[in-house]
Parts: sequence; C-alpha cells; structure tokens
Amino acid sequence: MIYDNHNRPISYLRLAVTDRCNLRCFYCMPEEGIKYLPKHQVLSYEEMERLVRVLAKLGVEKVRITGGEPFVRAGLMDFLHRLAEIDGLNDISLTTNGVLTAPHIPALAALGVKSVNLSLDTLDRARFHKITRRDELPAVLKTLDALLEAGIQTKINAVVMDGQNTQDLVPLTEMTRTMPVDVRFIEEMPFNGEGSHYPVLNWTHKRIIEEIRAHFPDLQKLLDPPFSTSANYQIPGHQGTIGVIAAFSRTFCGTCNRIRMTAQGTLKTCLYDDGVLDVRALMRSGASDEELTTAFLKAFSHRPANGFEAEQKRDTVTESMSTIGG
Ligand code: SAM
Ligand code: SF4
Repeated sequence: MIYDNHNRPISYLRLAVTDRCNLRCFYCMPEEGIKYLPKHQVLSYEEMERLVRVLAKLGVEKVRITGGEPFVRAGLMDFLHRLAEIDGLNDISLTTNGVLTAPHIPALAALGVKSVNLSLDTLDRARFHKITRRDELPAVLKTLDALLEAGIQTKINAVVMDGQNTQDLVPLTEMTRTMPVDVRFIEEMPFNGEGSHYPVLNWTHKRIIEEIRAHFPDLQKLLDPPFSTSANYQIPGHQGTIGVIAAFSRTFCGTCNRIRMTAQGTLKTCLYDDGVLDVRALMRSGASDEELTTAFLKAFSHRPANGFEAEQKRDTVTESMSTIGG
C-alpha cells in the first residue's frame, strides 16, 4: 500500500476511457461547441491497461471506469475482461449514464463487476430531457431494472441543481422504499465546460439533507464506510439508502484515497487540481515501468491536502467533467 504526503492511502483509480458522450448534461457540458479530443490524443486500451498494471503493483486495488460515457467507446467490454486479469485489482466498477448499458449487464455481472453508479437526476421525462438535452429516460430506467435483476449493487447519482431538479429530491428518495439502491445527491460543481453556474451554491449538502428530513423526519444517519465521499442515511423500513456528496463543499478530503486518469492520460491527484503528470507523454516517449512508477510516486508525495488548496494553485475551473470522469 502506498501513502501520500498526508498519510492517506492511494488505493482507488478513476479511469476516464473517453471524453465523448451521448448526452449533454447541463452541469457537465455546454449544449454545443464541445471540442472532443482527437482520437490519437486519447489513451489506447493497451496504454490504459499498462498504467493500471503499474498502479496495481503500487497498491491500487479498485478501478472505476468512467468518462465521458464509457459505453460510447467501442471495445469497452474486451478492455474490462483484460482489466479483470490484473493481479491485485479486486474491484472493477463503472459509472454510466445508462443509455447504452442495459444489453451489457449480464456480461458485467459475469465479469464480477461489483457495483455500477447510474446517473439519474430526475424521474420526470420532460425534466430529464431538459437537463440532459436528450430524451433518453426510458433507456436509463431499463438499465436500472436490468442492474437490479442482475443483483449488481446500484448507486444512483443525482446532481442537485438550483431551479432544475430540487423537486426531485423527494421522488428520488422514495425510490429507496422498494428498491435496494443507494441514491446519492451530489452538490453541483463548476465542471461544466463554462465555469460556475451560480455566484454561491444554494443547494449545499446541508440544505439537501434538511429538505429530505422535512419530508422524512425519521431519516437516520448510518455509519459511513471507510473512504466514503457520501454521508449516508436510511429511512427505517426502506430497502435502499440515501447519501449526500459534498463535492463542492469538500468535506471528505481528509480521507481521500482516489486518483484520476483523464482520457488523454493526465494524472490528477485531486479532483480540483489541473493535472499533475502527463502519463501519456511519458509512455509515448518510451518510459519503462520503473520510470512510470517513479513519476507516480513523486506525484503522490506532492498531493494537496484538500480540494481548496488544489484549486488555489490553478486558474479558474472551466473544464468539463466529461474529461475528468467525476
Ligand atoms: N457519463 C457517465 C455518467 O454520467 O454517469 C460517467 C461520467 S460522468 C462525468 C460521472 C459523474 O459525474 C456523473 O454521475 C455525473 O452526474 C457527475 N457530474 C458531472 N458533472 C458534474 C458537476 N458539474 N457537478 C457534480 N457532478 C457532476
Ligand atoms: Fe455525459 Fe455523464 Fe457528462 Fe452527462 S454527466 S454529459 S452523461 S459525461
């Protein structure tokens, strides 16, 4: 196990396999004018497999595949099969918008994928269309059904947006009554390709939980698992749980065990940093595994203490979450 300069273990990699997407979520991308990376600038599957092998030797045990939308990249399932063979990796999971996912779920279950995070910000078709700029709610709900049927642990990610979907807090919470899902409400971050949507964030984690408690007064706090980014709750008698992720307020940095690899192969040791290592350039210039390892270790020994420190060291955040992976 490898530790950073603040004595936090680094055990979890979030790997963006593409920056492309079939939705245009309001909080993630502008409606038009997105400049996707040219293909040669995106890591090949071979390059990604290699860097995961190197990181697994350093103690990374868990990889979450994200994007962009992972399922818009051809060959994803073959890549997952290759990852499943890597020694030391014991948890492969995915984050998906669910539009193209349903047909792959039996294969994901067979591969041993433990959990899938499904993005779903509303159960109302018109609002879904407005938020994602595509009319795909039925396909996403099909994926949800298929995940539950396959017995894959399912987390629903819902970004809470002022003036867009705060009326969905209660219906999304209601889902936990009959479904064994973990619904997680996420504070909106300024990673939308344009900069912040608001002068101040009105819907903080505190307000989100107050709103839910107003409708479900017997909401109970659960013990959070180690390294959890969500504060977790349950309503007695409900099958599922709810969680709130203070992604903008950044309350969880003290136990952060994650690193991120963007689709173009830039290492981020904090969600809010600007990228700390060009792994693609290193690999393409012929670096050996030992040289890659040394470069990773150096980056891990300079991690910012928290997302505020990381943000201070860079220009204003304007990138899209589709390049980072969430
Ligand atoms: N396309 C996949 C999806 O939507 O699930 C995976 C990539 S997406 C960038 C990963 C997660 O980041 C999603 O759950 C999404 O809701 C979240 N996300 C994107 N932009 C965000 C933002 N500005 N603030 C908070 N969460 C965001
Ligand atoms: Fe696509 Fe996911 Fe971003 Fe939505 S949040 S635009 S689904 S990458």
